[in-house]
Amino acid sequence: MGHPNVLYGIIPYCYKIYLCCMQLSKNFSLAEMTKSVTAKRLGIDNTPNEQQIEYLRELCANVLQPLRDELGPILITSGLRVPELNKAVGGSGTSQHCALNGAAADIDMDAKNTEVFNYIKDNLVFDQLIWEFGSKECPDWVHVSYNYGKNRGQVLRAVKQNGKTKYLNYES
Ligand SMILES: [Zn+2]
Repeated sequence: MGHPNVLYGIIPYCYKIYLCCMQLSKNFSLAEMTKSVTAKRLGIDNTPNEQQIEYLRELCANVLQPLRDELGPILITSGLRVPELNKAVGGSGTSQHCALNGAAADIDMDAKNTEVFNYIKDNLVFDQLIWEFGSKECPDWVHVSYNYGKNRGQVLRAVKQNGKTKYLNYES
């Protein structure tokens, strides 16, 4: 009989190797959706559980992959953030980046952000789509979430007012 402490170390390690290779859709891997330099820097374990993986898979299948098929390679700057990581980056306490009620991704394609935003808004099913700051012409990045069976199709614009973030209804 081996020492049980050895197993406690090995099982999470194997789980992480297994997750490293997991593909969520044709062009999106779990590694891409969980990557975070902040998590590495702060030593936060950003490993998702099975339910979170399922939410991420639905986001990829229904939003990110169709977007990629239409516009070509998509740059995800933030996908999953476990609650500890979300707190560290100053995310909202109810952020869908935590993948506890659907899942969310931030996309930053610079000058192409408006095209990304409009394509999602006009063609895809989503829970929340946010034009994040930027100008009238182009957002700094695009936030999109998907929550199977509970998609609200809500379109918002994030602005800074007196140093605080406000979410306004998006009016094109
Ligand atoms: Zn976001």
